[in-house]
Amino acid sequence: MAAEAWVTLATNDSYAVGALVLAHSLKSVNSTRPLVVMITDQVSSAMRNRLGEISCRVQEVNVMDSKDSAHLALLARPELGITFTKLHCWTLTDFSKCVFLDADTLVIQNCDELFDREEFSAAADAGWPDCFNSGVFVFRPSMETYGKLVEFAVAEGSFDGGDQGLLNSYFADWATKDISRRLPFIYNMTASASYSYRPAYKQFGKNVRIVHFIGSPKPWQASEASAFQNPVPGDHIAHWWRIFICNVLPRLSSDMFPILRP
Ligand code: UDP
Ligand code: MN
Repeated sequence: MAAEAWVTLATNDSYAVGALVLAHSLKSVNSTRPLVVMITDQVSSAMRNRLGEISCRVQEVNVMDSKDSAHLALLARPELGITFTKLHCWTLTDFSKCVFLDADTLVIQNCDELFDREEFSAAADAGWPDCFNSGVFVFRPSMETYGKLVEFAVAEGSFDGGDQGLLNSYFADWATKDISRRLPFIYNMTASASYSYRPAYKQFGKNVRIVHFIGSPKPWQASEASAFQNPVPGDHIAHWWRIFICNVLPRLSSDMFPILRP
C-alpha cells in the first residue's frame, strides 16, 4: 500500500458518478498516487464495483456503526451527518499523507506536488478568502486528530452547518500561520471564477490544476448535459462530460444512471 493517496467521498450513487469521473481524471494526468473512495451504505453494489475498478480502495465508512464518539455526536447533531462522514478521512492511517478531493472536483493537470505540502493546506474560498475551501485539502491521517475533530464538532458545531465551517474553526490559524499552507487558487478553482473574473481567468486559466464545481447544479445533473452538446473551448463542464461519456458511461448499466436517458 502506497504511503500517500488521494481521498474522496460519495454517500450516494450521484456523488459516486462524480467520484468515478474524478478517478478517471486523476488517471488521465498520470498521477503516481492512488485514490481511496470513502462510501456509505447508500451506495449501490453496482456502483461500488465500478469504483473498485478505478480506485485502490473503496472504504465503507458508517458513522452510525462506528460505535465511537462520532456516533454519539451524530445523535446529538444530526445535521452534521455528511460532515462527520468526511472527517473519517483522518482514520485512513495506512497512509502518512493524503489529499482530500470533493467528488465534484476534476483534476485537469498533474498536481502530485500537492503531496509536498503539510497538514493543513487548502486554498482560499472564493466567497470569503479568509476562510479556506474544504473541497481540496492536504492532511495527515491520525486517530488522534480524528478524535479531536469529533470532540470539537460536538462542542462547537459548524458555523455553516457543514465540513467547511467546522474545519475552518478547527484549523483557525490557516490564514495567518504559514503562507505555505495557503494553496494557490489553481488547485481549487471554483468553476464560476472563469466568468466572475474573466481577465484573470484569461491570464492564468492555463495554469489551473483542479476545478471545483461548487454549489448546484453539479455537472452530473441532467440540465448540465447541454454543455457537452455545445462545448466552448476551455469549458470545464464539457471536460467533465467528455470523461463521463468516454470512460464512465460505457461501464454503467442503464438502470444505474437513469437521468441520462432521453
Ligand atoms: N457529499 C456526498 N454526499 C452528499 C453531499 C456531499 O458524498 O449528499 C460529499 C462529496 O464528496 C461532495 C462533498 O461531500 O463533493 C462536499 O459537498 P458538495 O461538493 O456538494 O459541497 P460544495 O462543494 O458544493 O459546497
Ligand atoms: Mn464540492
